[in-house]
This record gives sequence, C-alpha cells and structure tokens, in this order.
Amino acid sequence: MALNYNLSEIIGHKKQIDFLSGLYSSQRMPSGLLFYGQKNIGKNITALSFAASVLCRDYAENFKTDSSSLNFCGKCPSCLSFLNGMNQNIFTAGSSGNSIKIETIHQITSFLALKPQYPTHRFIIINDASAMNPSASNALLKILEEPQEKTVFILITSSPSMLAPTIVSRCILLSFAPIADEILSGAVKLTYPDIKADKLKIFLKLARGSYSGFIRLIEGGYLEKRDFLINNVFKKLFSEFRKKGDIYGISAEFASKSKGAKKKNGGIDAEVKGAAADEDEDEDKTYIFELILFIFRDIYIYSLLKDEEILYNEDIAGEIKKFAFESGASPEDIRHMIETTVLHIEKINGYNLNKSISIDSYFSNLISA
Ligand SMILES: [Zn+2]
Repeated sequence: MALNYNLSEIIGHKKQIDFLSGLYSSQRMPSGLLFYGQKNIGKNITALSFAASVLCRDYAENFKTDSSSLNFCGKCPSCLSFLNGMNQNIFTAGSSGNSIKIETIHQITSFLALKPQYPTHRFIIINDASAMNPSASNALLKILEEPQEKTVFILITSSPSMLAPTIVSRCILLSFAPIADEILSGAVKLTYPDIKADKLKIFLKLARGSYSGFIRLIEGGYLEKRDFLINNVFKKLFSEFRKKGDIYGISAEFASKSKGAKKKNGGIDAEVKGAAADEDEDEDKTYIFELILFIFRDIYIYSLLKDEEILYNEDIAGEIKKFAFESGASPEDIRHMIETTVLHIEKINGYNLNKSISIDSYFSNLISA
C-alpha cells in the first residue's frame, strides 16, 4: 500500500491546506486546531500530512533559504520514522469505536513530559475527539489551558457540538466539506481509469464526497452485494411484511453470505497508523448493514417524496418504488427499520453493550414495530 503524505496530493481541501501552510510559514502555529466535518473526507490524512510535513527535515533545511511550500519528502529520518509509525514528535489517539478514556490523556501527558529529540514541533492528533468521556475531556482541557511551546493539538471530529465548548474555544476551527464531485471523480479515474460512467455516477452519489468511501464501494463489491440484498433480503422482508411472517429463512441465508467487505485498500483515510490500526475488522462487520441502511434510506425518502432523482440507488428506482408502495409498509414502518438497523450497527460497534447481537433478533425487530 503506497503511503503518501504529500499535502499537495491530498484530494480536495486546498483552502484548508493553504491555511495550515500559512500558519506555519508565518510562524503563527496555534496550540490547538479543531478539524471538523463529515466522516471520512480526509481530515485525518490532512492532519497527519501537515504534522509530518512540518517535521520533515528536508523541508526545514530548505525553508531557511527558500519559501517553498510545506512538503513531506518521505526520505529524511523524520519522514522515515513517521512512515514506520515511530515518529517521536507525533502522538496519535483515537476511539476505535469506543469512548476515549482518561488513560489516553495520561499517555499524552507522558508524551509531553519527554524532551523532544530535536527542537521542533510536536503534534498530538486526536481522532474522533468527541468520543472523549467527561473525565478525559476535563483532563485534556487542563493541558490545553497551559499550552507548551511548539506543541500543537489537532482534534478531529464529525460532531463538534459534542465537544465541550471550553475545549472548542481553545482551538482554531477549520471546517472540512465533502470533496466536490468533479475533484472526486478526477481522483477516482486516476486509480480506476476503466470505470464505467454509469457506475461512476451511482458511486459518486453514494460516496457523498468521501474518497475512501468511493474506494470501498468499488473494492467492497457494492453492486454485487446490493443485488444480493435486494433479491434475498429486501424482497423477502417486504413480502413478509404485511403478514408479519417468518423471517428466519432470511437470516440464515444472510448470515452465510454477508461476510463483510475486505478492506484491502480502504483509501487514504484508512491508512492511518497507530491507534486506528485495528479498526478495519470492526468496519468489515458493519459494512453490510451500512449498505442495508442506504437502501432503507432510499425506500423511506421515496415513500415520502416520490422523487427518483434524489435516490442514492437511482438505477434501481423500480425496485425501490415497489418496496415503498406495494409492500404495505408505511413511512413510519420504514423509519422503524432504519432505526433498528442503526441500533444494530451501534451494537456491533460496541456503543450499545447491553443488548445481545444476533442476526435473528435484528430481522425480527425489523418487522415488529
Ligand atoms: Zn522529510
């Protein structure tokens, strides 16, 4: 897997990258930055690339004489140690699906207590920062209240309103938007020059501005899995709906065929080292349910608005219509199915530990409102 942390090659987010480079070149590096915006659009890779580029020693040496922009050379000792996940000046933390506890903040305190090997910046990157529990959040606030020289915290979140306002107020806020379709399709065509136009169109809608999301759709075999779901799950589910019939047939078949998509190449946001390294397996387990959500979402939207254009799965609008109108399921019934699916994903992710995780109960809950 080719790792590339060149700021100039990040897909989209040019304004944000220019802003960050400007902070460095004008020597106005803040002690706290907060990157926020939709999940999986490149906040993490931007944070890592920025930190690694500031630390790149090739750049540090050239910067004295020429004002070229920040760059990750990939060859100097700093870049090499970063690529090996062992850069002494970068600490990364994340939630891995659970809350961020005070132990993580203690690790940060220990990291900060170490004297840096070189008189350079140090970065603490906290992914999914809104997953901090209250005690972690309080402990982090204490650190932020006494900023250390050349120490930069980068907090990353898709839900900034879940962060303590006292923490937010200590950071410079940088918002990240989903990658524009033109930029995303340009990047995808470089990797997959043979991708068909109709497939590109469907996937652009589904990826919602996420390059890693797009790559997952291709590598995870979205269309094949969707066919399976439509024929073996949705058709049976909606035909049994009215009679509240037997759904065990569905769950048995589903369990045997719904092994998660292998995330061989999860795209740039997945190339995160350290704390996030073992996330892949969890994501595999939820992938098929995320696909189910996409389809439910379309059925729900269609049952309310009767507009094909706004469907994610516009190419199978005929099937979507049938589920929305011929099954006897009301919009409320479909919303219940969506909520049940979201709850199931939360259980798999470990947010909701009290309830048992079972495919059988998932399917029976779908039709027993
Ligand atoms: Zn370097």
